[in-house]
Amino acid sequence: MKSIRWKLVFLYLSLVFIVMILTGTVLVISTENREKSKASEELRQYAIYIEEQVVDQYDSRYFQDSLANLSFISSSQRTISGHILDSDGNTIASSTAANSEEFPRFTNSGIISALSGQEAFTDNIRITDSNGQTAKVMGYSYPCKGEDGRVEYVAYVQMAADAIDTTIAQTTRSIVVASVLALIFTAIIGFIFANTITSPIAVLTKKADMMAKGRLEQRAVVKSNDEIGQLTKSFNTMARELKKSLGEVVDQRNKLEIVLHNMTDGILAFDERGNLIHINKSSYEMLDIDDVNISLKWLLNKLNVSVSDIQPNSIMDLTINENDKYISVALIPYAIKSKTNGMIAVLHDITKQSQLNNMRQEFVANVSHEIGTPLTTIKGYAELLLDGAIDDKSVAMDFLREINVAADRMKLLRDDLLDLSRFDTKVNKLNRTEADLVEIVKGCCRQNVIVAENKNQSILFTPPDKEMPIYADVGRVNQVITNIMSNAMKYSDEGAVIKININEKKNSYHLEIEDNGIGMPKEALNRIFERFYRVDKARSRAMGGNGLGLAIAKEIMDAHGGRIEVYSEQGVGTTMVLIFPKSRAIHE
Ligand code: ADP
Repeated sequence: MKSIRWKLVFLYLSLVFIVMILTGTVLVISTENREKSKASEELRQYAIYIEEQVVDQYDSRYFQDSLANLSFISSSQRTISGHILDSDGNTIASSTAANSEEFPRFTNSGIISALSGQEAFTDNIRITDSNGQTAKVMGYSYPCKGEDGRVEYVAYVQMAADAIDTTIAQTTRSIVVASVLALIFTAIIGFIFANTITSPIAVLTKKADMMAKGRLEQRAVVKSNDEIGQLTKSFNTMARELKKSLGEVVDQRNKLEIVLHNMTDGILAFDERGNLIHINKSSYEMLDIDDVNISLKWLLNKLNVSVSDIQPNSIMDLTINENDKYISVALIPYAIKSKTNGMIAVLHDITKQSQLNNMRQEFVANVSHEIGTPLTTIKGYAELLLDGAIDDKSVAMDFLREINVAADRMKLLRDDLLDLSRFDTKVNKLNRTEADLVEIVKGCCRQNVIVAENKNQSILFTPPDKEMPIYADVGRVNQVITNIMSNAMKYSDEGAVIKININEKKNSYHLEIEDNGIGMPKEALNRIFERFYRVDKARSRAMGGNGLGLAIAKEIMDAHGGRIEVYSEQGVGTTMVLIFPKSRAIHE
């Protein structure tokens, strides 16, 4: 019996059953007692009647006749028989017999006590008639005393007891019927009542189950103000509070999730078993991973450290260097209630920093190297002069010329470095005006024609017969074109032809400077604009180059909103294309 409903119904039924049994028993017993005392009183009246009408009136010889004249009908129409017994207990007169041979004999305890002077009522006497049928009778024995107080006769009255049994049986039947009806009503009422208690509980249970499955919007209808009603109210309050608290928790978690997800630093969290419990977008990008099974072991493997290397209370800083990327990793053990629970890894992309560091180191080394050569020259010739070469005027003049050239190189280097540094710090300002590119190129050709002729080279430029206006710092543009032209001449053999062309595009002018010189290997093409980069260092130096010309040219073109493109094949030649935005395109 699992349901409270059935338990309650069973309880009510048991209670009603017990009450009915007890009341029934009391009722039956009291009915029986009442009936018996009524019968006893009636029988006693008859016994006194016999004494008064027969024993006290007549001689014993006439007892039989006198007794026969008496009427023995009980109030309940039951047949009563009257008998007179002598002091020995023998029947000497009987209303049920005609002569002494038929007189019945009575030997019950009531008669014995009457013979000793005590009237007595006896029930439950069993008699067997001549047909062998047994019956239950009640008798009243009344002692008739003489003047001396001795018992002379006993007036004995007897009546069938079945009437009482019938009454009791009727009472019992009524009680049983009442009990059955009471039990049926109790079952129905009990069921309805139990339902009023259990159905709200069932509703609450169902709603609580749904809440447990995550549907927190559950509310129950309060139908009463009793304990069940209070419970329902408390449930509703609890559901509301739970939803609110959970909402706040989810809100917090979402905020944290958004912050972690959008952080530029990578965050990975592992539980105490080393299983991944959180990873953000940046971590995937930094570690170049998709869906690999990431665990603490996997990360430690990548970092080349073992679990035993990790100190429980200290942060470990490591670096991953893969695919030209530098990722710094901080391993932070976290603890809850002083028990180490897991590990958080914070990833930071330090590629740019590392590259900058490398570049800085490279730059310092390059500058030192570039200064080193002219410095050695200056120092060497100065020492020779001090050692006496100064006395030979023509030698001294040669040495001083060399020192002058070296100093010029150093000055050029310093100027170029300063220029670049001003571009870096945006100090260099362009003095832009409307100018004609064709005219600028013509000027450059004129300036370089002597240099070309010195090397037996020629510059071939057929100027277009229209103006090509650009909005530019003429001096700077001149500097770029001259640099490219002088490179074309420097890296081409004697007799080479430098071809110059300007092509008009929709929004720009493409100035092509083509040589058929030594050209460059493919891998150099991306690097020639780096500071100090030179394909052939010795040749460049021998030509007085310091590897900064194209870097400055690129800065100037960038500042004009243009760009430089390079097409080159080793041994075939190089074409440098300077792309200038049209003046109109800038002003629109
Ligand atoms: P440099 O002072 O060495 O010429 P640049 O920055 O002007 O420095 O050029 C960088 C490098 O690019 C040169 O050292 C050279 O190796 C290569 N280079 C530039 N122009 C040409 C060209 N026209 N032909 C072949 N190589 C060139």
